[in-house]
Amino acid sequence: MMSKGLFIRLLTLLAVAAGCGQGAGVDGLQVLRHTREIVRHGPHPPGSEAQRKAGEYIAGQLEALGLEVDTHTFRPVTPRGRLRMTNIRGILPGRDERVLILASHYDSKFYDAFEFVGANDGASTSGLVLELARVLVQDNPAGLTLWFVFFDGEEAVGEWSSADSLYGSREFVKREKNRGNLRKVGAMILLDLVGGKDLRILQEGYSTPWLNKIIWNQASRLGHERIFRSSGRGSHIEDDHLPFLRAGIPAVDLIDLSYAHWHKPTDTLDKLSGPNLEVVGAVVLASLPEIARQVKRK
Ligand SMILES: [Zn+2]
Repeated sequence: MMSKGLFIRLLTLLAVAAGCGQGAGVDGLQVLRHTREIVRHGPHPPGSEAQRKAGEYIAGQLEALGLEVDTHTFRPVTPRGRLRMTNIRGILPGRDERVLILASHYDSKFYDAFEFVGANDGASTSGLVLELARVLVQDNPAGLTLWFVFFDGEEAVGEWSSADSLYGSREFVKREKNRGNLRKVGAMILLDLVGGKDLRILQEGYSTPWLNKIIWNQASRLGHERIFRSSGRGSHIEDDHLPFLRAGIPAVDLIDLSYAHWHKPTDTLDKLSGPNLEVVGAVVLASLPEIARQVKRK
C-alpha cells in the first residue's frame, strides 16, 4: 500500500513528466504528427476532398485549443475553372487588440503526372503554426492579439502568375480590408518550406528589413546560425506575404527554396526534420516580444 505522501509526490512527478513533452517550447514531434495528419489523405489541392479533410483537421485542432475559429470559403476562377477554397483562422485575443499573424499555406500543388502531397510545401509549416498556437495559448509573451492563419490556394493551379497564385492570401487581405480589420494588423510572419533536413534560411528579399533583423538577431543569440544564414540576402520570392506587403503591412517570409524536393513527388514525410522545425519555432517564439515592441511603437 502506498502512503498518502508518496502518492502525492508521485502525482506531482507524473504532472511534471506529462508537461515535459508538452512544455513551454515547440515540440518537433508534435509538428510532425500534425504534418502527417494534413497529408494523410494524399494530394490535397484546392477543391479536393483531401483538402477539405485537411482543413477540417486544422480547424478542429484550433478549436481544441480553445481558440475562436473563423473559416472563409470562396470560389475564385482558376485555369481549372472555379475552385472551392477555404482560409482558416484561429484567434487568440491579447491584452492589446493590435494583431500579429503567424501563417502558412495548407494546399498542395496540382500535378497530374505524379502524386504530390507537399509534406514540406505547405503541410510541415501548417503543423508548425498549429504547434506555435498550442505554445502561445499557454503563454503569449507578445501580448498582441494573435491570428493563426492557414491559406488555401497558395500554389498556382496552372503556370505561376499574379492571377494564378496566392488565391488565399489575396482573398484574406481583401476581405479583412473590407471588414475594417486590416489596420489592426501590425505584422505578419509567414512560414514556408522550413521542415527540410538540410535547412538553410536566407533573408528573403521582399521581407520587411526590421522583421528580418529581429529574427536573425534572435537566431544568432540562440546559436542557430547554421540554419539562419547571415551571408547576405536571399532572392526575392513571391509568396503569401506579398498581398500583406502591398497593403502596407510589415511581413516576413521564412523560407528555404533550396529544399531538394521542392515541387517533386519526393516531397514526402521522410524528408522532414522535427529538430529543424523545432529550431524555427523557437526562433519565432524568441522574436515575438521584440516584434510586439516594434508594432506598439508604430
Ligand atoms: Zn509550392
